[in-house]
Amino acid sequence: MISQISWRSKTYLVRHKPFPHISVSSNKELHGWWPGKRECTSERLLINPYSGCSINCRFCYARSFPGWFQLFRKYGVVVVAEDFDIRVGEQLDSIDVASCGYLSPVTDPFQPLNEKFQLSEKIIAQFVKRNIPIEFITKARVPEIVLEMMVENRHNFGQISILTPDENLRKILVPQGASTSDLFENLNRMSRKGIFAVVRIDPVFPFITDEKTHLQEIVMRAQDCGVKHIVASVLDIPVATRYEVLNWIRENFGYDIYEKYKNLYTERIGNYFHACLDYRLMIFEYLRELADKYKMTFALCMEYKLEGKKVEGLNQYFMSSTNCEGIDIPVYIRKGKKFYPAADCSGNCLNCTNPICGIDDLAMGKPGSKKDWKLKDYRRWSTLLE
Ligand code: SF4
Ligand code: SF4
Repeated sequence: MISQISWRSKTYLVRHKPFPHISVSSNKELHGWWPGKRECTSERLLINPYSGCSINCRFCYARSFPGWFQLFRKYGVVVVAEDFDIRVGEQLDSIDVASCGYLSPVTDPFQPLNEKFQLSEKIIAQFVKRNIPIEFITKARVPEIVLEMMVENRHNFGQISILTPDENLRKILVPQGASTSDLFENLNRMSRKGIFAVVRIDPVFPFITDEKTHLQEIVMRAQDCGVKHIVASVLDIPVATRYEVLNWIRENFGYDIYEKYKNLYTERIGNYFHACLDYRLMIFEYLRELADKYKMTFALCMEYKLEGKKVEGLNQYFMSSTNCEGIDIPVYIRKGKKFYPAADCSGNCLNCTNPICGIDDLAMGKPGSKKDWKLKDYRRWSTLLE
């Protein structure tokens, strides 16, 4: 058990409960999507209070990320950005235009370690206080206080990842996540409070969680819980952690499945191996059929194919909603201490050519548009709007 860690010429004390972690002061800034093959239609303010995740899924792509994430991969230590909620509040006070906050694009906001620090609750409070919408994605139980705060704004919403209805499999795939019944209950609790609830079958594991009856069971149970939108993907394997992920598959699911994975994961796009396209299309066609049958909208998350050397998103063939997260959230503009939705904006900036919000940069439906925005851009737009 390590008691301290040296990183970039500094030494940090490792605390072990409830999960090994170090705390660092952070001057991280809110930012938009990363450059590259973006398919996310809406703008978001991305927020990562934790680098690493105590839910501890072995397939987690955060293990392949550089910087602090390598402490998680190599030593199983999560880095906590202490007081990040205060920084977030200060940053929100420095802008007059805001998009929906997103907790979190990389690691789980309600992972077990959050019970100690409650950074996610504190960050949500910063958004709610200013009436800026916020969303979360989780495989954990959502704290009741979060839902109570989120009822304030009809554009707040939550996404629950449910990979399988089989609780024994869930324990292998998502070891420290919520039980299957608690995950469905998350959806129920949101719907009862009128909070838009999304189920994510993300990712589907080939030959492990892809039984059609199981996928149908997730969709039917989600529908019973009031869900109106599904997001799906098939597992990608980062090039950097390929051997670790494949070894984990072999140890837990046997040599035959391991061999099948080696044969299936042949399509390299950027830093990831994707399951071969025919397999993915078969899964997406089936899930889209289910969504249509059960009167839900559907979208994919980060699914691509190669057309020669060009990377093409697959959502153009499968998405049935205006925005990939199934809910249209306008950009919000400050009036005094609070923010309010821009009129007549459906929030699908990636396809927008008519920036009635007044921010030309955000209308990225125009060819050649830049697609990655930083806090400094939000500050610049705030000056423009003045
Ligand atoms: S819950 Fe998500 S972020 Fe956390 S370990 Fe699992 S895949 Fe990674
Ligand atoms: S009007 Fe268009 S560019 Fe402006 S926020 Fe809405 S969708 Fe984005």
